[in-house]
Amino acid sequence: VQPLHFYNSLTKKIELFKPRRDEAVRVYHCGPTVYRRQHIGNMRRNLFADFLRRTLEFSGLSVADVMNITDVGHLTQDDIDAGEDKLEVAARERKMTPADIAGEQIKNFFADLEALNIKRAQHYPRATEHIEQMQRLIHALLKRGHAYQTASGVYFDVTSFPSYGRLSGNKLEEMAAGHRVDVREEKRHPADFALWKIADPGHVQQWDSPWGRGYPGWHIECSAMSLAYLGSAIDIHTGGEDNRFPHHENEIAQSEGATGKQFVRFWMHNAFLNLKGAKLAKRTGEQITLETLTERGYSPLAFRLLTFGVHYRQIMEFSWQALDAAQENLASWRQLLRRLRELSPPDDAEFKADPPVVAAFLRALSDDLNTPSALAAVMGYMKELNKKLASGKDGLSAAAAGGALLTLRRLDQVLGVIEPLEHELTAESVPAVVQRLAEERETARQAGDFAKADKIRRQVETMGYVIEDTPTTPRVIRK
Ligand SMILES: [Zn+2]
Repeated sequence: VQPLHFYNSLTKKIELFKPRRDEAVRVYHCGPTVYRRQHIGNMRRNLFADFLRRTLEFSGLSVADVMNITDVGHLTQDDIDAGEDKLEVAARERKMTPADIAGEQIKNFFADLEALNIKRAQHYPRATEHIEQMQRLIHALLKRGHAYQTASGVYFDVTSFPSYGRLSGNKLEEMAAGHRVDVREEKRHPADFALWKIADPGHVQQWDSPWGRGYPGWHIECSAMSLAYLGSAIDIHTGGEDNRFPHHENEIAQSEGATGKQFVRFWMHNAFLNLKGAKLAKRTGEQITLETLTERGYSPLAFRLLTFGVHYRQIMEFSWQALDAAQENLASWRQLLRRLRELSPPDDAEFKADPPVVAAFLRALSDDLNTPSALAAVMGYMKELNKKLASGKDGLSAAAAGGALLTLRRLDQVLGVIEPLEHELTAESVPAVVQRLAEERETARQAGDFAKADKIRRQVETMGYVIEDTPTTPRVIRK
């Protein structure tokens, strides 16, 4: 196992990462609020989570990870001030129920993850399916003196938690100064936050509770679901840097207030994506989604590659020129792969991966996930290969080409670009009729018609091809 070092937002230092236990590394990612399609800034955040997870696995660790899905009113202080919540507003505008909007957007979310070749987390718990766990946690906080009830709901008492502000560096005295207190909420301190809100009759999403019919605050969701799926003490918690305060600060107060144990060892936050120098803010109109990119003819993998080239703690300046360059890189990678595949005989166990580039790649990643430096190692390696290929037919032996392919596939355990490119190349070389049969077989297989699926598989085999099932889509290869 390669030792890994990560920047810990809690201690503000780069530290050696060690899982708390020998078993899987427990990771919690703050996930999407599913009221509209996520923009590419959100996708940068999801890619960061994917690079982290793949790096942990590449270094020899196993990972148990959870990403929540917020499908109930996402209440930031602004929303409370405006008396609005995003799901309810979207539902009203589109004349749909919040549940329908959430269902539609969850589908889009997973489609985007798949297009970006992001590995699925083990669990994607939905907030509306964990109201009971949240209520239990609120009950525990009330019992331990960390919360109080008013006519408008239940609030966390920040003064009961002495280390409140440790993650964000915010001080309670400063938070109290110059802050308007909403009389209607009857909060004791301006930084106190809602655990449970009593709902107005017009609020669509509401549940019974010992404190009145209402709905949970946003922060309690993550504390309750990480506790339910990963236990009271987890290794890494990630989020965008806008989550650090108040969301993560509040999560710490709730989780540690209820369990008395240190909630998270490593906090990791990714920086924003900038669009023409401006943050892709949630409240400005302009949204660039993955759909926007594909409509303009870009491969989602180009965005993946572009994101890999920027360190996660650095602001990512998005521009169409940068995406063009990534798309061109992708094309040259595809060309290199095609030539290596033509040169190397299939299925030769004699091939060896090239250790120096693999070691350099892992060394870069183990240095606080230095993906730009890891990418530079890959690009340097590819440049060497291209040079050899250009030097004539003796430039690269069949075995060397096979070894290079093996190396690139190994690096791809984190890159996540080579495999889909190879998939494209394979699909290109398979006749359309065979490809169609493979799709028909997949449809039959998904419908549970295994007799038909088997029949098609045999038919494809007599035509000289085999179908390999992969976790995503089936792959057809020449026999
Ligand atoms: Zn969260």
